[in-house]
Amino acid sequence: MKEKILEIISNYKKDKTRLMDILHDIQGVAGYVDEEAIELLHKELGISTSEVREVISFYHFYSSEPKGKVNIYLNDSITAVMHGREAVLEAFEKECDVKEGSVSEDGEFGLYHTSCIGMNDQEPAAIINGKMFTRLTPYRVKEIVKDLKNGKDIKELIYEGDGGGRNALPEIHSMVCNNIRRRGALLTHDYTPFDVTSNILGKSSPEDIISVVEESNIRGRGGAGFPTGMKWKFGRKAKGEHHVVICNADEGEPGTFKDRVLLTEFPELVFEGMVIAGYAVGADIGLLYLRYEYKYLLKYLNGVLEEMRSKNVLGNNINGIEGFNFDIRIQLGAGAYICGEESALIESLEGKRGEPRDKPPFPVEKGYMNYPTVVNNVETLASIPKILTKGADWFLGLGDKASSGTKVLSISGDCNYPGIYEVEWGTTIKDILDMSGAQNVQAIQVAGPSGALIGEKDFGRTISYSDLPTGGSMIVFNKQRDILRDVVMNFMNFFIEESCGSCSTCRNMTTVLKERFVKILDGKGVASDIDDLLNWSDVLKVSRCGLGQTAANPITTSVTNFRHLYENLIQKDVEFDSGFDLEESVKESCAAVGRQPILHNM
Ligand code: SF4
Repeated sequence: MKEKILEIISNYKKDKTRLMDILHDIQGVAGYVDEEAIELLHKELGISTSEVREVISFYHFYSSEPKGKVNIYLNDSITAVMHGREAVLEAFEKECDVKEGSVSEDGEFGLYHTSCIGMNDQEPAAIINGKMFTRLTPYRVKEIVKDLKNGKDIKELIYEGDGGGRNALPEIHSMVCNNIRRRGALLTHDYTPFDVTSNILGKSSPEDIISVVEESNIRGRGGAGFPTGMKWKFGRKAKGEHHVVICNADEGEPGTFKDRVLLTEFPELVFEGMVIAGYAVGADIGLLYLRYEYKYLLKYLNGVLEEMRSKNVLGNNINGIEGFNFDIRIQLGAGAYICGEESALIESLEGKRGEPRDKPPFPVEKGYMNYPTVVNNVETLASIPKILTKGADWFLGLGDKASSGTKVLSISGDCNYPGIYEVEWGTTIKDILDMSGAQNVQAIQVAGPSGALIGEKDFGRTISYSDLPTGGSMIVFNKQRDILRDVVMNFMNFFIEESCGSCSTCRNMTTVLKERFVKILDGKGVASDIDDLLNWSDVLKVSRCGLGQTAANPITTSVTNFRHLYENLIQKDVEFDSGFDLEESVKESCAAVGRQPILHNM
């Protein structure tokens, strides 16, 4: 194994910034990264063993412990739970003879939970040895495990081409469904790949390109909504030996899966958007950060890049434009929601833990390897070639005043037609519910757990930067759902799990909030506990990055819009209840140290 690991390290020219790839490759051959590998990485890459361990422990899909021969990561997002996750988990536990979070005694199966894997429209879903399995049922689990035990290759268990569109291509070979339900300006097939590169770039200066993007008023589609043209202008102005364009394809907000479909069906649009951005800001380095969960697209996407190189849409002197040298590399992530934050993503691209950087400096000044770096979302970049082909006025004619263009939404939960819907900004929530066949709706989570939980009184509102901004996730809950116990609790657990832990406010307050929330759920809450939840949520808002700043949103928006649910649970006419249960606490601590409780003597 030592030789193999040394070979992997030398394949990456002993470049420590490629640690993510090196760890993926080592795990690919050894199953996990053991102490010998960590020592070798330390010696060959010149980084300390603790730095290597830190990186391994940060990401869900790396391990320094032996795993199963077959490793199953079952999604635990709220829609998976709503569509039968528990029964599927029981089936896996029974058929594999393993408990969640462990490896079976015979070492054959590892079974783990994982945060949203971008399949909310086809849950329950799991990643099994890197392959995506969707629409799981207990019966299907039984079949899969039986076939695996009989030595069948994992690839044979995928219903080839079931998902439609390019999912059927041999390079993808996936059963993931596109579920495109509504097409608009972006998803319509009226685009000739690389037309802009051939016919517009050489004839327009980088400044002209930036002007058109600015005039179109397109804002970042990842959620933050920063004006794209302005970002490019800053990037172009910043001084550096190299300039970098990064496509953030790490959509990890629970309930979002639109980038999955854009990357599957429209990768040429996304990559050409990157090429245009490269020309505009004067970049020579392009990086697409692909979330690990979409690894099944990696080979196919690399194939598209190869084709672009063969057509000189990537490479040196692109399309004969003297001095325009730009290429794109795809970096596979390893499972960490926080890497969707641009500076955390840059850290990860440099082979480190994905911890957000302090700002300033902003990435446009000092980003990847300290070079000026423009980070754009998949959907933003995919919109660029059409804006340049059809003009800024065409784009401005779509949407509303504050938000031009269209928005691709990922709609899931309690609706008849979960999937992808492209609508113009300014569309009402009611229209969106009607489109997706949602009835008897109690609540919608707009923009994922970090967004807002809204109720019926807000269904007349619009998705817009001036009203309800969204990166694209919308999860519908009908009137049978237990909003607090199931939905809010799931989101709180998500933030606790995904906090990178580097600042104490976020690391601790998420747990403190949850404890007070659980006290209310347990019927031990009093009126002041609701006030405490809101006051403590304010404390979280001063966290270092967007994750901590929005981690209390499930609490604050549910208290604002569903206060009656909290009030139904709190004790009436009781002013104070510490919520402390002595007997329970003694039992828990005795269980932890393996003693019998002796409460009767206390
Ligand atoms: Fe990490 Fe949370 Fe602090 Fe962000 S707010 S840096 S996720 S601990």
